[in-house]
Amino acid sequence: MALSRRDAMKFTGLAAVTAAASGYAKGNESPKSAAKGVLLSPAPIPAAKGPRVVIVGAGPSGLTIAKYVKKGNPNIDVVLMDKRSVFMSGFISNLVATGILPLEFITHDFLEGARNGNYTFLQATAHEIDRTAKVVYTNEGTVKYDVLVLAPGIDYDYSKWTNGDVELENTLKTKFPGAFIAGSETLSLKSKIENFEGGVFVQTVPGGNYRCLPGPYERSCLIADYMKRNKIKGKVVILDENPNITIKADGFHSAFEKLYKDYITYMPSSTITSIDPHKQKIVTELGEEIDFTDAALYSRVRGNKLLEIAGVAKDSVFNKAEANIDPFTYQVIGDLNVFCTGDVRPMGFSKSANTANTEARVVAANIVKYMGGQELSQKTWTSPHTTCYSAVESDPLRAISVNAGYAYDETKKSFGFANASTMEKWDSADGLAAGKGLIEWGNGLYRDFFN
Ligand SMILES: Cc1cc2nc3c(=O)[nH]c(=O)nc-3n(C[C@H](O)[C@H](O)[C@H](O)COP(=O)(O)OP(=O)(O)OC[C@H]3O[C@@H](n4cnc5c(N)ncnc54)[C@H](O)[C@@H]3O)c2cc1C
Repeated sequence: MALSRRDAMKFTGLAAVTAAASGYAKGNESPKSAAKGVLLSPAPIPAAKGPRVVIVGAGPSGLTIAKYVKKGNPNIDVVLMDKRSVFMSGFISNLVATGILPLEFITHDFLEGARNGNYTFLQATAHEIDRTAKVVYTNEGTVKYDVLVLAPGIDYDYSKWTNGDVELENTLKTKFPGAFIAGSETLSLKSKIENFEGGVFVQTVPGGNYRCLPGPYERSCLIADYMKRNKIKGKVVILDENPNITIKADGFHSAFEKLYKDYITYMPSSTITSIDPHKQKIVTELGEEIDFTDAALYSRVRGNKLLEIAGVAKDSVFNKAEANIDPFTYQVIGDLNVFCTGDVRPMGFSKSANTANTEARVVAANIVKYMGGQELSQKTWTSPHTTCYSAVESDPLRAISVNAGYAYDETKKSFGFANASTMEKWDSADGLAAGKGLIEWGNGLYRDFFN
């Protein structure tokens, strides 16, 4: 039986808000057709001068691992590979899309990281991985590894909205990108906001363990802030699949209420049953119909498809096709020479940059130990740390924040937050300090990746 909105509210204890508007693990089986249609000659990189670690994906996870493996043991040959030619961060990108910070702030040079970190950067796309021969096949040629790290981030999972209709998926991706994979989607969102003349802007919040829990709420605040600053008669309608704001709920609810009463409509428990991208109409399970002028439709997420190609994916309790790894060592079950890190991990940690960065430092140290002959185990695990600032207003820049580590519960056999704390009073001196802290935090991460 479908829940009524009233039931959903009762269930979550929320105040009334109404809307105006396969286990793929293949063990060590190698993909036999790995070489088909891809270059067999070696990629144009220097010969390995020691045991080689190849890292696929130069996001916060891969960049940190490349730097710290090399630091941990300079005799290890490190190759970091990414299909992109330029780094653009997802974190801080909501401030860029809404014109608060320039694009240059989030855009960085992979080569700087390689020069300073003394490793090889290869701009290439990994197409196939033969784990028996220990070879990555790329559009630039083959790269042999001793240890492989897969840190390719997320892919979107549109299946709940499209039920396999590829044409619909492509139209949604093109017209209303979720903008939770940085790059063209970020630029599309920026241009949508700049050209928005009024009406309803829909921001969806997916279920599952999606990338950057506060991200869609932060973005909604900043789009509303943009409308307010520019006197645009518009409204952000947040269609949240979850029964309440998933993190820093008090801070966001208070910002919606005190800053954006006329600009934000929050609709929890909004499971979307259909989207017509041409008529620009969304229907929810509760029977609500929302006509929209523009939108950032953020679907559920899944592990990057490269994991399936490599035969190291399995469905987690949260999302489809995430890494089939030992949660303490990050090593693939049945193949200790392959590590999977960052947003592809199946553990319920926050899919965020600070988490990926602090986790990667631990994994890098463990890779060095492993290559030195040491066995990894629960004892060599240290918790990653999640620090996340979310801006709620631009002038002055005010933010809320969360800080948390993780602990393993032996009885439940799962991880939970440890020593978590939040600062949700954006309208206090702490909120102003957090606005400054956000910028410093972002710059600190870029420094750690590239210097
Ligand atoms: C709008 C937005 C707001 C955010 N806000 C915050 C925030 O406030 N705080 C926070 O901590 N985090 C935030 N995040 C989340 C954060 O950016 C991600 O969690 C983080 O980038 C994950 O790092 P990763 O290295 O696992 O993956 P990614 O950053 O996705 O990096 C993966 C890399 O792999 C490359 N790749 C993929 N496949 C291949 C292939 N086959 N061959 C070669 N290369 C490949 C990709 O090009 C990419 O560069 C935000 C993200 C977005 C989009």
